[in-house]
Amino acid sequence: MICPARNPSGTRLTKSLTEEVMTDNHYDTIIVGAGIAGLTATTYLARSGRKVLLIEKNRECGGLVNTFTRNGFHFDAGVRALLDAGIIFPMLKDLGIHLEVVKSQVSPGIGNEIMHFENPESLSEYSDLLKKFYPESDGEIDEVIGIIRKVIRHIDVLYGIENSFFKDLKQDRGFIFKKLLPWLPRFIMTIRKINGMNAPVKDYLKSIIKDNSLRDMITQHFFKNTPSFFALGYFSLYLEYFYPRGGVGRLTVQC
Ligand SMILES: Cc1cc2nc3c(=O)[nH]c(=O)nc-3n(C[C@H](O)[C@H](O)[C@H](O)COP(=O)(O)OP(=O)(O)OC[C@H]3O[C@@H](n4cnc5c(N)ncnc54)[C@H](O)[C@@H]3O)c2cc1C
Repeated sequence: MICPARNPSGTRLTKSLTEEVMTDNHYDTIIVGAGIAGLTATTYLARSGRKVLLIEKNRECGGLVNTFTRNGFHFDAGVRALLDAGIIFPMLKDLGIHLEVVKSQVSPGIGNEIMHFENPESLSEYSDLLKKFYPESDGEIDEVIGIIRKVIRHIDVLYGIENSFFKDLKQDRGFIFKKLLPWLPRFIMTIRKINGMNAPVKDYLKSIIKDNSLRDMITQHFFKNTPSFFALGYFSLYLEYFYPRGGVGRLTVQC
């Protein structure tokens, strides 16, 4: 594994060294890019006995999951917090990696008014905040909050069980029969329901909210083409954000 694919002085690997790597060694897999995806793939392939070459063009691994330190302060270069989504914690457990984390609270605000997403009831507080600034749209706000509540119920199903990828299904029969199989029909029904919510969130909300400013306020957290289900589902996922002590880059350093 080469990571980074530059020598310590920061210059690119020389052609001869690259050629040597490519010709004198046999690799089962070559992965280009040591972001979280490349690091994860490399770790699992290497663990299963494959010989893997991981190539990164930057001096540091991690890609968007990266933290640098200046004068004792940590700065996150890309991602600002992490979401388990039934994957990160089971994966870390599976790899025997301990990551010290703290809760990362999401606190949206309008003007000087700020609220905190602390529990499922915080959605009502968010609704009150929107209504305070857009009283003439209170019916539309109720409708959107109703849709968000429905999406949250779907999210609860999607992430309702531990990710089976990290389970030893041959050994853990209890998980298959008591959790996975009963969950599958609910999962399939939920997937059908959310397929109708693939339109970009801004377009989706246009059919419900007339006021452009209110629409911008609700969608400001997302890229404008984020699918509606994914975007509105964030109001549930906000409660699960966590932050590794020392910066998000601790995750990739540990890999
Ligand atoms: C603005 C923004 C904010 C985000 N915020 C969050 C957040 O708060 N929480 C969250 O969980 N997720 C967030 N995400 C999503 C998350 O960052 C990504 O899903 C994840 O980091 C993608 O990982 P990756 O390994 O696929 O790609 P990257 O992290 O982009 O890694 C790709 C790597 O490949 C390297 N590379 C590229 N080309 C070459 C080449 N030719 N040769 C060698 N190396 C190469 C790059 O240098 C880089 O290291 C955010 C994404 C963006 C864009």
